[in-house]
Amino acid sequence: PSITRGVSVEIPKVSWEDIGGLNDLKKKLQQAVEWPITHCAAFSRLGISPLRGILLHGPPGCSKTTLAKAAAHAAQASFFSLSGAELYSMYVGEGEALLRSTFQRAHLAAPSIIFFDEADVIAARRGGSSNGNVSVSERLLSTLLTEMDGLEQAKGILVLAATNRPHAIDPALMRPGRFDLVLYVPPPDLEARYEILCVHTRKMKLGNDVDLRQIAEHTELFTGAELEVLCREAGIVALREDISAIAVCNRHFQIVNNSLKPALTREEVE
Ligand code: ATP
Repeated sequence: PSITRGVSVEIPKVSWEDIGGLNDLKKKLQQAVEWPITHCAAFSRLGISPLRGILLHGPPGCSKTTLAKAAAHAAQASFFSLSGAELYSMYVGEGEALLRSTFQRAHLAAPSIIFFDEADVIAARRGGSSNGNVSVSERLLSTLLTEMDGLEQAKGILVLAATNRPHAIDPALMRPGRFDLVLYVPPPDLEARYEILCVHTRKMKLGNDVDLRQIAEHTELFTGAELEVLCREAGIVALREDISAIAVCNRHFQIVNNSLKPALTREEVE
């Protein structure tokens, strides 16, 4: 961790190459996140105000968190992570205090990215169908909105929020100057699955009979997280079969593939 003016922070190590597929999305994020930080002067020269918030939505395990980290890595920005569910479960007032102090720390360590996972837990539509404690989430949401409105003066802080339930998000968050950019992070298609398999087998010793393209074809509906599990488990199966194995072979992938069932359904993907 580097120390920036007394604040201990991490710049994530994940890079764009660690994410398979999603090439258009990576380009959009690159522009939205890296440019305002690396070309800050150009923005001021033209009098353009950079984005303050980006909302990433899509099914679990499809790299929303990893994209936010890779964006921070590329921009060499400090990364602060908050979880809506965690804030929600804190004692009265503690969640708001943590939100405020995170924005302060991000300000001191700028350029910074504040990643806000499970954003829908606190940014749920007011008066919506949630049976949770409305006053807790309302107070958290209004603190978040105040902090985001305050970013106008602060340079080099960007909020990336993630949710699996974009429809539950309060429209107040989508007003100009808050989450101006909304990006869908889809489950991987065939080509993306192949690329994800390449990423997660990069450091593995594979047998000559392993055909990652064929595995990609046989893993329809798998998320990136599930493909990562497939690769790791195939390695474990190989070791279980023979602790002195020198490579992971096609049959090891097949054994695991036959036992894994993707969590996503066809309807969710189409
Ligand atoms: P959640 O909504 O559950 O928080 P998420 O969309 O934020 O999930 P991540 O946490 O980024 O997903 O991904 C989970 C794991 O899956 C990561 O460890 C990552 O390595 C792997 N993964 C997911 N998508 C990809 C991808 N496109 N390329 C490589 N790895 C991936």
